[in-house]
Amino acid sequence: MSISQWVVASAVSRWGDDPWARGSWSLIGRGGTPRHRTDLGTPIGSRLRIAGEATHATRAAMTHGAYEEGVSAGAWAAGQGHARVAVIGAGIAGLAAARTLTDRGVWTRVLEARDRIGGRTAPAQVGGFGFDLGANWLQQFHDNILARLAERLELPMVPTDFTDPLVLGTPYALPDGLEEDLRARLAAASEQAGIAEVLDGWLADPGRWTADDIRRFVDAEIVMDSGAPLSWLSARHGFEPGVGEGDRWIVGGYRLLVDHLAESLDIHLNRPVHHIRTGPDGVALDDDLRVDAVIVTAPVGVLAGDAITFDPPLPATHRTALQRLGMGRVEKVILRCDRRFWPVHPAGYYRVHGPGENCVSEWLDATAADGTPTLVGLFAGPWLDDLWTGPDEQVAARAAAVFAEAAGGDPAR
Ligand SMILES: Cc1cc2nc3c(=O)[nH]c(=O)nc-3n(C[C@H](O)[C@H](O)[C@H](O)COP(=O)(O)OP(=O)(O)OC[C@H]3O[C@@H](n4cnc5c(N)ncnc54)[C@H](O)[C@@H]3O)c2cc1C
Repeated sequence: MSISQWVVASAVSRWGDDPWARGSWSLIGRGGTPRHRTDLGTPIGSRLRIAGEATHATRAAMTHGAYEEGVSAGAWAAGQGHARVAVIGAGIAGLAAARTLTDRGVWTRVLEARDRIGGRTAPAQVGGFGFDLGANWLQQFHDNILARLAERLELPMVPTDFTDPLVLGTPYALPDGLEEDLRARLAAASEQAGIAEVLDGWLADPGRWTADDIRRFVDAEIVMDSGAPLSWLSARHGFEPGVGEGDRWIVGGYRLLVDHLAESLDIHLNRPVHHIRTGPDGVALDDDLRVDAVIVTAPVGVLAGDAITFDPPLPATHRTALQRLGMGRVEKVILRCDRRFWPVHPAGYYRVHGPGENCVSEWLDATAADGTPTLVGLFAGPWLDDLWTGPDEQVAARAAAVFAEAAGGDPAR
């Protein structure tokens, strides 16, 4: 398959296969509650603490939640009176922790497995301009500490109105009251129930809605926002707040913020940590670095696997938290195009349902970045298994075809 003729450059993410992420962002599975997030972030003695987006009880899965948790962990380690602290991971949480420690005069070293900083804010240079294959928006913009930093740095930002996407293809408008009905049903479910269970009951007796209305809403709001199987996702706590509160994206990408946070920190790249041994005298990392304390910001997908072993093992509360939390998979594609053949919509955002059931994608019109017609597509759901296989060019071509079909046909044909 060759890439569509109207696409001049492209990039695709691979979060599902990424060994240092193992998914896109953390979610609460059946039997889990926000309490498991707090449990995971509770210090283990005075020398070890896990921090990151997953440990924030109310702002999980977002960069500003990661930042706040990093600051809190850094302040905790400094408050313990430690002189030498290691931070594992140079994502937003790790950088925030290291910045906080360094500002307080604590010797701090950041150890990062990848050959770059930023973690799940992943810069991509596509067609000569910087975009994001990871985090894109500053969410909850008006109450977001990173948004205030972006304003101070005078970074150019563009708003997106998620409440009013243009639905391409089959027209669809969310019926009044459907979201409230769904939220009430989820809130009334048992702690052990998954979203699929609630949905099955609802579809069997849809009341005043059509089954199609319900499915489309769930695809757009829950599948797209989580990227996790609905049978796994907690009915009570799996549909967390975040998107749609005045969100803005940074022209030039998150890299502009990340580089600022990383300035003058002691960061060692290509330095995965495999083993953490904590004792009364300090912490040994892979037996070649000794420090007084360590802050671990690896994502829950990594912590739940065997990439890092802890000696002694993590306490039961933390292990339970890792079992109740998990990662979803949302993938992105960036398409730089030779023309803007799609309708211009003030919200700057498009949704595509189909080609089949449970197939949903959302698209940001990022043309404002530098004037070149640009689409940033987000894909989630079971169809990723077929869509996201083979070389990047093939994946981008399939994604482009989904958008073009919905927008009225491939302009090159
Ligand atoms: C596709 C996508 C879209 C998103 N969109 C948004 C958005 O629009 N807005 C938003 O606010 N958030 C968004 N997010 C979520 C956001 O990116 C994350 O919540 C946030 O970046 C997490 O930061 P963190 O520091 O907790 O973790 P990470 O960024 O994952 O940082 C952890 C770091 O630890 C490193 N690491 C892991 N294991 C080891 C090890 N053993 N040794 C050393 N280093 C290790 C990793 O390489 C990584 O650099 C998105 C994420 C994805 C994937």
